[in-house]
Amino acid sequence: MFDEVKGFATTLKRLAAPTATIEYPEEKRPMAPRFRGLPALRSDPETGEALCVACGLCARICPTSCLEMNVIPSEEGDRELGEFILKAGRCMFCGLCSQVCPVDAITMSQEYELSVMERDGLVYTKTELASIGAQAPIWWESGVGPDNQQTNAPTRYDRFKNNASELY
Ligand code: SF4
Ligand code: SF4
Repeated sequence: MFDEVKGFATTLKRLAAPTATIEYPEEKRPMAPRFRGLPALRSDPETGEALCVACGLCARICPTSCLEMNVIPSEEGDRELGEFILKAGRCMFCGLCSQVCPVDAITMSQEYELSVMERDGLVYTKTELASIGAQAPIWWESGVGPDNQQTNAPTRYDRFKNNASELY
């Protein structure tokens, strides 16, 4: 008898408590600052140019080999990024690609609604990744997250622009 009363009291207590559930997908919870969503390509906020320097480090460290890229000659006679492919069906969202990138060109975005009807939909091109991550903050550094977008803390790319030798 005592157990039934106790259970009923718990039910009454929950009735008066604020609702814990949300009406997803209409309502979404705020993401944790270091949430690891779809990897995406960042660009320079001033020029809009992609930060990627086509070094290939992210593809080499990726444990599931889901990153592919090719390099083409640039107009200046240097080399630049041609295509950049992410096979998201194989990505395990570990974030290693973001951590190894010397110029913070790839980050973990907050994109998580990735389900598709066809497997081809899980293959993201450079243009798609760039539109997702264009102004996304650096995911893994301290102060990362929404607050980081309002700070002027120097990033690795800033340091790269000022003195490339710091990185190597
Ligand atoms: S998050 Fe991990 S698995 Fe996904 S692309 Fe980056 S390194 Fe590869
Ligand atoms: S590590 Fe960074 S700069 Fe190098 S290819 Fe990957 S995204 Fe581009």
